[in-house]
Formats: sequence, C-alpha cells, structure tokens
Amino acid sequence: MTGKQAYDVVIIGGGPAGLTAGIYTARARLRSLLIEKAAPGGWIVNAGVVENYPGFPQGISGMELADLMNEQAAKFGMETLTAEVTGLELKGEQKLVRTTEGDIVAKAVIIAGGSDRAKLGVPGEEEFMGRGVAFCAVCDAYFYRDLPVVVVGGGNAAINEALELSKFASKVTVIHRRQELRATRILQERAFAEPKIEFLWNTVVEAIEGGDVVERLRLRNVLSGEKSTLDISGIFVATGTKPNTDYLKGVLPLDASGAITTNEKMETEVSGIFAAGDIRSNSIRQVAAAIGDGAVAAIYAEKFITS
Ligand SMILES: Cc1cc2nc3c(=O)[nH]c(=O)nc-3n(C[C@H](O)[C@H](O)[C@H](O)COP(=O)(O)OP(=O)(O)OC[C@H]3O[C@@H](n4cnc5c(N)ncnc54)[C@H](O)[C@@H]3O)c2cc1C
Repeated sequence: MTGKQAYDVVIIGGGPAGLTAGIYTARARLRSLLIEKAAPGGWIVNAGVVENYPGFPQGISGMELADLMNEQAAKFGMETLTAEVTGLELKGEQKLVRTTEGDIVAKAVIIAGGSDRAKLGVPGEEEFMGRGVAFCAVCDAYFYRDLPVVVVGGGNAAINEALELSKFASKVTVIHRRQELRATRILQERAFAEPKIEFLWNTVVEAIEGGDVVERLRLRNVLSGEKSTLDISGIFVATGTKPNTDYLKGVLPLDASGAITTNEKMETEVSGIFAAGDIRSNSIRQVAAAIGDGAVAAIYAEKFITS
C-alpha cells in the first residue's frame, strides 16, 4: 500500500468482534477497512465445534462460522488488508493507524485484536516451540497420534484442548495448579468421563526438557513441594490469555492485565476510538459476547462519525 489511505472506520482484528463491526459499518455505507495480520476468523477458527453460539443447534465448526462472518462483511463492502497494526496516533481529528503495509487514516477506529495465549515462562518453552510445545490442539493434535501429551491449565480452553487431544494421543495428562477445574460443568463431565484423560492436581511445570524434541517435564507439587519428572511427547499450554495491546501502551488506558477499558458504548477514553471483544477489560471471552461488542462499537462509531 502506498501513500495514506483514508477510511471512515478502521477495524483492527478480524475475529468475531471485528467481523461483526465490519458487517455493521459497511452496511451503514461507511468506508470500512478491516486490518488482520493472519487469516480472518480470529481464535474461533481453532475451535473444533462451537456448540454455544445461537442459531446452530447441531453446532458449527469454528472455521465455518468464521468464514460465514467474513463472507457476510465482504458482501456489504468491507475491505480487508492483511497487515499488522504496529501503532496508533490519536492526537488529530483523523486517527493515524500505522501498519506493516503503510499508514492509514480514519475518522474512527474499532480495536478488536483479541488476545493471545499466555506462556508459562519456564525454561525450555521457547526452545521447544513447535517441537513439542504447542498452543492449539485443533491445529497440532494430529502430530501426537498414539503419544502421551500434557495440557497445562484448568479452564474451558484447557479442557477443550484435552478433549480434542484425546482423539489422537495415547494419554492426556491435565496439569493444574489447583485442586479443582474452572471449566464449565459440561466440559468437566466430558473430561472426567474420557478414559484417556488423567489429572495431576496442585502441580506446576518448572521446566521442559528434551533433545531434538520435548521428552520430559520437571514438575513441582505446590502443596508438598515434592519434585518429579514426567515423560511426554507434547505439552499444550492453555493457562490463560494476554490481550494484544503491546502497541497501545502509553496510547490508551489499559487495566492491570493489559486489556482496554471501555464504557457500555464500547468507547475508550479517547474520542473516536472504540474497543470490542476479548481485548476488552473483563471480557467473558466468548463469541456471543464478542459479536455483541462488535455491533455496539460499530453503531456508536457510526454515530460518532455522522454527528
Ligand atoms: C480452542 C478454542 C475454542 C473456543 N471455543 C469457543 C466456543 O465453543 N464458544 C465460544 O463462544 N467461544 C469459544 N472460544 C473463544 C472465542 O474464540 C473468542 O472469545 C473469540 O474468538 C473472541 O473474538 P475477538 O474478535 O474478540 O478476538 P479474536 O478471535 O482473538 O480475534 C482477534 C484478531 O485480531 C488479530 N490481531 C491482533 N492484533 C493485531 C494487530 N496488531 N494487527 C492486525 N491484526 C491483529 C488476530 O490475528 C485475530 O485474528 C474458543 C477459543 C479457543 C482458543
């Protein structure tokens, strides 16, 4: 892209929140650009089947749901740019969006960049990334056919990962730092009923070790302090998320977790800048919530531009 392209609305992030915002702003005949650094769809493309999104009583694959949302936004004229947003300058009336493909100006910006998986931060995690350390079972479970794997975490994401892995792996050990899961009851019931899934409670991973690929974990029981090792072929990390707001530090107020604070109109503290979806403070990190946020942000962005 050369020169500065001008849009009514720039939407950062092509997950459910951004795509919904795009459907609304493009349909409102605002010149709308969605900037996405990867393929459109966001995190939901990693979900096997989405069962709790209304309108699909039999469930729908995350990939198909994402494709349908993208198709719908494009139908109304939303443009898409494949690029990473690296900075925002918000001083003037026109907002300047810096991207890896050049600068863009817009009257309003909707930030819908979601969040990434948090890392464990233990020795071996970076070294073995892609060689036994993974963050997405739907993407990588197939590589662990008949091999023992570990999932770290106790929430919905961790249990979803464990259930997906149980279709391929010989054994799935869920390692959780507490005595109880945080995942919803229905997921817990499925995991407890799956014979391939075992649980190691009150335990943390201290190091990931191996040769060319991951071979074992060093573990510590947080109650007794007892240390142990566990031979495994893969470790899937699902311990939480980190909002994608690194480029917004010092630009917008962020909460302690790095998420963007908004009011109920999805307005940030900077006029004309909105946020939607998992990137928002206290988001419940569900598709239904993300699309609701996207719709609200788009409607108030339109009001901002036309008033
Ligand atoms: C394995 C898994 C299963 C799930 N299952 C379900 C489920 O069954 N039901 C449910 O309701 N929810 C589920 N979720 C959660 C759901 O996927 C999220 O709540 C939802 O995707 C959030 O949408 P979002 O648009 O806010 O963010 P995201 O989906 O995270 O999309 C954000 C997008 O922004 C892009 N981006 C970020 N920063 C930049 C930048 N600087 N420049 C350009 N692009 C950028 C990212 O590449 C990404 O595509 C699941 C999540 C996972 C990981």
